[in-house]
Amino acid sequence: MAARILDGTAVARARRERLAEDVRAFTARHGVAPCLAAILVGDNPASRAYVERKARACGEAGMRSETFHLAADTPVEELLALVEDLNARPDVHGILPQLPLPPHIPAELVFARLRPEKDVDGLSPTNMGWLALGRPRLAPCTPRGILALIDEAGAPVEGQEAVVVGRSAIVGRPTALLLLARHATVTLCHSRTPELGRHTRRADILVSAVGRPRLIGREMVKPGAVVIDVGISRVDGRIVGDVDFEEVREVAGAITPMPGGTGPMTIAMLLENTLEAARLQLERPGD
Ligand code: NAP
Repeated sequence: MAARILDGTAVARARRERLAEDVRAFTARHGVAPCLAAILVGDNPASRAYVERKARACGEAGMRSETFHLAADTPVEELLALVEDLNARPDVHGILPQLPLPPHIPAELVFARLRPEKDVDGLSPTNMGWLALGRPRLAPCTPRGILALIDEAGAPVEGQEAVVVGRSAIVGRPTALLLLARHATVTLCHSRTPELGRHTRRADILVSAVGRPRLIGREMVKPGAVVIDVGISRVDGRIVGDVDFEEVREVAGAITPMPGGTGPMTIAMLLENTLEAARLQLERPGD
């Protein structure tokens, strides 16, 4: 039987509508709307487009946003000074340094300077530490979106075999930790994992976050598995994922398309994290 398609666009839309109601209630309670400050360094067109999309999404959810656009050769100290300013501003609740940053700016250094309660991408050492302790607070957006889509599939997570392919700090690693926090039995694979299929074939939940088209074929998937495709590649001008969608949909129980799966969820989770950040600061300070 063909797999159920997990429509990230529809799930994200529903969550954003619910969020807009929560934002209205928050704003009425506090007389101030949650506000996201995005920092864009350089002129990468994809990053610029992401930041514009995020700002528009904030507006649609009833949130404020500010964008700080710095030149590509901005010295690290100048960027860190901006972070400190935003850390100190009570009207800014979330700070988002758009990745990738130029090569002379180590991203870890910037995220380490963010006040953890304003780190809406969940990439600061403090928020990563909470996640590693199994007590996620502001968790990274793409991994949160992945978990939301797994829940959408109606599949249990607790006690299931989950296999994550890709171990980056942004996607694979925090996804594995979120699954572990939900009591899955987790295997984390990467480029040095021999015989990838030996692992993926055991997975009740399979997440691929690599960026290699057709990495995951039909023979690598357990019948009935929930398959979440995070990879993004361009082939002949088309966006494709890591998963051979046409093949794998014949065996999986549920599967995300690419595009239209994990991508739309990332922005929805960023908005949710921004509201959560505002709540942490105004309603649960010291939490
Ligand atoms: P990344 O930092 O390049 O990490 C890729 C990971 O894949 C690494 O851990 C790497 O292993 C592993 N890998 C590479 N070749 C492999 C192979 N043959 N078998 C198994 N693992 C392999 O990328 P990322 O930032 O995590 O992003 C991953 C993909 O997701 C990209 O295509 C990116 O565009 C996409 N993405 C999508 C969204 C979304 O919203 N859908 C959001 C963010 C990223 P090593 O660690 O050993 O090098």
